[in-house]
Amino acid sequence: MTEYFHYQQDQLYAEKVALSEIAQRFGTPCYVYSRAALTDSYRQFAEALKSRDHLICYAVKANSNLAILNLFARLGAGFDIVSGGELQRVLAAGGAASKVVFSGVGKSEAEMRQALEAEILCFNVESAPELDRLNALAGSMGKVAPVSLRVNPDVDAKTHPYISTGLKQNKFGVAYTEALELYRKAAAMPNLRVTGMDCHIGSQLTETSPFIAAAEKVLALVDKLAAAGITLEHLDLGGGLGIRYDDETPPSIAEYGKALLAVLQGRSEKLIVEPGRVLVGNAGVLLTRIEYLKHGEEKNFAIVDAAMNDLMRPALYDAWHAILPVQRRQNAPLSNSLPQAGERTSEKSNSQIYEVVGPICETGDFIGHAREMAVDKGDALAVMSAGAYGMSMSSNYNTRPRAAEVMVDGAVVHLVRERETVRQLYASEKIVA
Ligand SMILES: *Cc1c(COP(=O)(O)O)cnc(C)c1O
Repeated sequence: MTEYFHYQQDQLYAEKVALSEIAQRFGTPCYVYSRAALTDSYRQFAEALKSRDHLICYAVKANSNLAILNLFARLGAGFDIVSGGELQRVLAAGGAASKVVFSGVGKSEAEMRQALEAEILCFNVESAPELDRLNALAGSMGKVAPVSLRVNPDVDAKTHPYISTGLKQNKFGVAYTEALELYRKAAAMPNLRVTGMDCHIGSQLTETSPFIAAAEKVLALVDKLAAAGITLEHLDLGGGLGIRYDDETPPSIAEYGKALLAVLQGRSEKLIVEPGRVLVGNAGVLLTRIEYLKHGEEKNFAIVDAAMNDLMRPALYDAWHAILPVQRRQNAPLSNSLPQAGERTSEKSNSQIYEVVGPICETGDFIGHAREMAVDKGDALAVMSAGAYGMSMSSNYNTRPRAAEVMVDGAVVHLVRERETVRQLYASEKIVA
């Protein structure tokens, strides 16, 4: 990541462009993505899995900007979608329906119809009633739906409870103990074609072992199925590989890929993976500007123009993002790198401890707690590692137009989403006479 977002003479750069220029030109808050970083993470994945037949289905919900989808499509990616809206985005961005897998516990009839019409690669089915609905609908359209069952392996992903999905008590997938029976049922349905098995145990995993435990359980079930006469074409092991926000030490993409390939050794099924965060998380930052420095009785506040509507992760998961000055002030060390583990501050003097908060009327509206920074009013800050679940989770709370998004490519900056206008926000509302 440091190659793509780095300091040069105290100026923070995205590739060859100073972020201060971007803040100036496009205003704040503004998401900034590095095309080289996006490309690099995708290529690392492809490299790690190249020794076997595989498909990388980028999880669209991590960041669904068309420019990002288009970039991944051109690199060869498929897509993991969780709504009809995401399917429409993928197609609009030039993605191939034949490389789309459709996950999610609540697929509506309209969404299923849309996906059947587009002829997607696979429906990742999460319940018995979903099988019934899909079979009936496909029949009525004269189609046969390719299906995979999302099996819940009951593995602890050891991540935040809100993003852990592979435990018995979670709403996702079908119970491991019921999967065999359900596969039999699916195989007997005339308008379904059983093609695979999938699992996804959670997000921001920082260890390899839960992935391996889940894969082993899935494989044991695949073998049972084969013994029962149901053979599968693909295994979809989901997404969930974590990134470094602070001092986490997730396995590298290469290590993760190596571990997966080791478990799959000697098997002929095609491997599908659904990475989201790890492809985009550290390829984006959120630029914001300090509106006020407010010295309260107990705490100092840096009130910035980005808020929980722009980046929800701190409020939702108490997530930690590095917050760096776009232009370092005096006495900052001349290090060319981002802070290392355990070194959250780089400014030693003139610095104070701030609560970095947004303008929204909620106490939960914070970007970072207790950050030591040497800053002044009007300074631009970069909220790091904001490429995943940033813009895609944003809202218009407090009638705040959504941020602009730009993609840096070397020395060139492309506006990939215009800042919303307030008029757009209420354009479809009606006053009652
Ligand atoms: C969210 C999600 C992913 C991607 O998860 P990341 O942690 O972003 O890699 C993959 N598959 C499914 C089914 C998901 O819901």
